[in-house]
Amino acid sequence: MAHPYKYNPVTREILQQLQEIVGPQNVVVDEEKMEVYSRDEVSEAMWQKMPEVVVKPETAAQIAAIMRLANQELIPVTPRGAGTGLSAGAVPMLGGILLSLERMNKILELDRENLFMVVEPGVTTGEIQKTAMEHGLLYAGDPCSADSSFIGGNVAENAGGNKAVKYGCTSRHVYGLEIVTPQGEITTFGGKCVKDVTGYDIVHLMVGSEGTLGIVTKIYLKLMPLPKYTADLLVPFDSMEKAIEVVPKIMANGGIIPTCLEFMDKYSIKAAEMYLNRQLPYSDAAAYVIIEVDGSSEKQVEDDYETIGRLCLENGALEVFVADNLSAQEKIWKSRKCYAEALRMLSPVYCMEDIVVPISKIPEALKEIERIAEKYAVKIPSCGHAGDGNIHCTLLKEDRDEPTWHDLKEKVLDEIYSMVYRLGGNLSGEHGIGAKRKEAMSKYADPVQLKILQSIKKALDPNWILNPGKIFDPPAQL
Ligand SMILES: Cc1cc2nc3c(=O)[nH]c(=O)nc-3n(C[C@H](O)[C@H](O)[C@H](O)COP(=O)(O)OP(=O)(O)OC[C@H]3O[C@@H](n4cnc5c(N)ncnc54)[C@H](O)[C@@H]3O)c2cc1C
Repeated sequence: MAHPYKYNPVTREILQQLQEIVGPQNVVVDEEKMEVYSRDEVSEAMWQKMPEVVVKPETAAQIAAIMRLANQELIPVTPRGAGTGLSAGAVPMLGGILLSLERMNKILELDRENLFMVVEPGVTTGEIQKTAMEHGLLYAGDPCSADSSFIGGNVAENAGGNKAVKYGCTSRHVYGLEIVTPQGEITTFGGKCVKDVTGYDIVHLMVGSEGTLGIVTKIYLKLMPLPKYTADLLVPFDSMEKAIEVVPKIMANGGIIPTCLEFMDKYSIKAAEMYLNRQLPYSDAAAYVIIEVDGSSEKQVEDDYETIGRLCLENGALEVFVADNLSAQEKIWKSRKCYAEALRMLSPVYCMEDIVVPISKIPEALKEIERIAEKYAVKIPSCGHAGDGNIHCTLLKEDRDEPTWHDLKEKVLDEIYSMVYRLGGNLSGEHGIGAKRKEAMSKYADPVQLKILQSIKKALDPNWILNPGKIFDPPAQL
């Protein structure tokens, strides 16, 4: 795609300088090897773009040298974690250097005294969770992609996930960040201090900045004691309305903040059953609600799940299945966590949205999504984090041709986003804006807010070389 921005191409001389910085074996230009870096988990071809070169640094100093070179030569740089993103954030839409953090994959320290883990950005979230657990501790960040996504990507997206209801999104666990600035300096904001108001809260400006304001090279993560007991409930309902209405009842009337509170609609249940190739209980149900509770006393966990089970039954649940051992719990979670992959069995190309509304508005939002799906005769399976109002509603392309699909998407998304704003919600709860939702951002976000975001970008990255074309477009005149 042609673009009006005045970036320069990666020349042979620049390739040579990159090789001097990271070593020739860590500079990739072979198209076949670069292909995997041309996309993330967004399935549509329009959100794919080949980098001019992939560079794999191992230290913050190497990244700083790359950024200084890129600034001097005006070349875009796109940081990349594991590439599991769902907004084309790690795709080099304007070409240039793809900066892969995959070699920065060490857990640097587990500090038991202060309850911190210090890690490089290329460690998978699952490895962090497992290491913490082996020491009797909890890292509470838990996106469904934990086994594959990197912690640096979680920080850049402020990943949410399953346990956000009780423990918050990634930002809640990040107390310090080492950053390479777009201009190639290295600095650390925050660290292991639990309280720190020394100047602006730049740590939490960087968290969620989608790789547009700085490159994260070291992360200080807060850990907490591992809850001794957990139990999971799988609760089928014969109507989505009944299923979703139970959510505020648990949160407000039950007096319990569950660790997780998820839902799946009938299409998602069927897709999971097909993908996992095993019979799921009540797979003809209209909806599943999946709930996890945890605590330090067995009695408290039992009391909590009994209260929740009772509330579900009073609200018309077909059954309440309780899993209090690891293998039964894993079985329940597999059906929820395979959502993205399972939908590919229904339609290899789809458009997954990530809207968020106040939890009391979920029933209305889901009813509206159903109405819109009927109006445009398109399937929109929904699933998501009911406990925090975050709904993944996914338009399936099926066998439509490209022009029909794009036209349909535009109309359907316009209705969905308008509805979300009417209900007091927002465009993205956890997947970010990236390249994919940039147009919607410019249409729906408050112009004053957009202006503030753009002026922050300009102050930190005056040449607009770090991950340009994400969240908003660079100015036509750099
Ligand atoms: C099956 C599946 C389930 C998912 N479930 C969830 C979920 O429950 N919750 C959720 O929030 N997300 C979920 N996601 C989305 C995705 O996994 C998250 O957004 C994740 O945080 C991305 O991490 P990554 O390492 O793959 O980052 P990438 O996709 O590589 O990059 C994402 C963004 O981060 C930037 N970035 C990466 N590393 C750095 C760095 N070190 N410094 C600066 N910027 C950087 C990139 O430039 C890009 O903008 C899911 C995705 C899939 C495929």
